Parts: sequence; structure tokens; C-alpha cells
Amino acid sequence: MQLVDIGANLTHESFAHDFADVLARAAAQGVTRMLVTGASREGSELALALAQRHPGVLWATAGVHPHHAIDYDEATDVRLRELARLPQVRAVGETGLDYHRNYSPREVQLQVFERQLAIAAELGKPLFLHQRDAHADFLALLRRYRDRVPAAVVHCFTDTREALRDYLALDCHIGITGWICDERRGTHLREFVREIPPGRLLIETDAPYLLPRTVRPPPSHRRNEPMYLRHICEEIARDRGEPVEATAAHSTDAAVAFFGLGRQA
Ligand SMILES: [Zn+2]
Repeated sequence: MQLVDIGANLTHESFAHDFADVLARAAAQGVTRMLVTGASREGSELALALAQRHPGVLWATAGVHPHHAIDYDEATDVRLRELARLPQVRAVGETGLDYHRNYSPREVQLQVFERQLAIAAELGKPLFLHQRDAHADFLALLRRYRDRVPAAVVHCFTDTREALRDYLALDCHIGITGWICDERRGTHLREFVREIPPGRLLIETDAPYLLPRTVRPPPSHRRNEPMYLRHICEEIARDRGEPVEATAAHSTDAAVAFFGLGRQA
């Protein structure tokens, strides 16, 4: 079984001390390829550096998360354009809207999201998107750019069935994380994850965040790692009523096509 973790925050400091072991444990579970999320200007540089050091295993995204929208300046815009042209960088993002925490003001989030939509449109790059408690504004803005970008994934989807249908109607991919394993806030996803057609479902850990609560035994450190993608895949397969091999195969094929992983970096 070969799996692609489309969202791993491997630049996080918690991975610094045992990075090689993290990759080895992932590979032992079939998680042989990962997209390292870039969520800030500095984080995008670090994600690129990791991808350059691990060709064929790691690729990067380059973007500024809505939490950090307030830090987005002209120099950031220029640098993101440069990063997005590099062969190791396979998507623009993480970008989007987060009205759950509002770490950056909404007006700033909207501006910065649109600037990154414009970069993806200009360069013809896929989008790696974040949306929390902002579905209406997010959908309206994305809709205006959707025809000009080759592909878009709404990563760590946690919203309603109606929101899911809106994104599928806009020909988006859907990223599902171990959130689905959370009995307190993820059970609604179990009811409709089967509505995502094969070819549109992508799977991810969002490590080191969102350790699946159904992993047994729970690791003492509480850090999520790409190796747990296999567990997430098993849970999703059960909810979809399909063999885990099928979920693994179509989500991997979809990830390879979405990020162009067949092409060398
Ligand atoms: Zn996110």
C-alpha cells in the first residue's frame, strides 16, 4: 500500500530532533511521499529546503495561512511568486480564510487570500486551501478564480454536507484528516465522506496536529506523524464502505495527479 500525505507540517520544531526516524516510520507504513505545508513566508522557505533535501519523497507548498495574513507584505508576494515557480513547490498555499480564530482581521484575510489566488492563476498552479467558519466568503472568492487554476484542494475539510457539495460542484478536491476520528467533533464527516467521489478524495495527517483519537495505543508524546496516515485511511475506508486498498489506491492516484508527483523535481 502506497500513500501520499498531502498535508504535513514537517517544518514544525517538534520534528527537528528525529526527522529521519519520522520519515522511516512513515515509509514502513507505506507513506512514501509527503507534501510539506508552507504556511508562512519563513515556513515556505523551510518547506522548500526539506523538499530539496529529500527529492522524490518530499515536495512543498508555498503560501501564507490566514492566521498570518497580517504579516503579508510586498516582499512576501514577490517571494511567493519565486517559490511557486520552483519545481519542488507543487501548490500555492496554505491560504484561505479562518474566521474561527480571526488571528488576522477578516478584511486582511480576504485581501491576502485573493493575492494568493491571483498568484496561482498567473502561474497555473494548484491551490492548497484552508477554510474554517468562513464558507460563504471563501466560496464566493474561490468561485471567481476557479476557472483560472488547474486544481484546488480544500484541505482538512471539517465543514457541513452542504459545504462539501458546494466544493465538489466547483470541481475541488477534498482533504480529509484524522479529524474524522474525533468522536467529539468529527462524527458528521463519517456520515458523508462516502459522497466524495474517487479521484476527488485526498488524505492527510496535518501532523504534528490532529493526532487521530482512535490510534491504539495512543502514543505518549501526542505528536501526530505521517505514519498515522495509514490509520486514517483505514477509518475513511470503513466509513466509505470500501476496501482499504481501494481508498489507498484512488486517493494516491488522485494525489499524484493533483501535485504532478510523476514529474521529477
Ligand atoms: Zn489548515
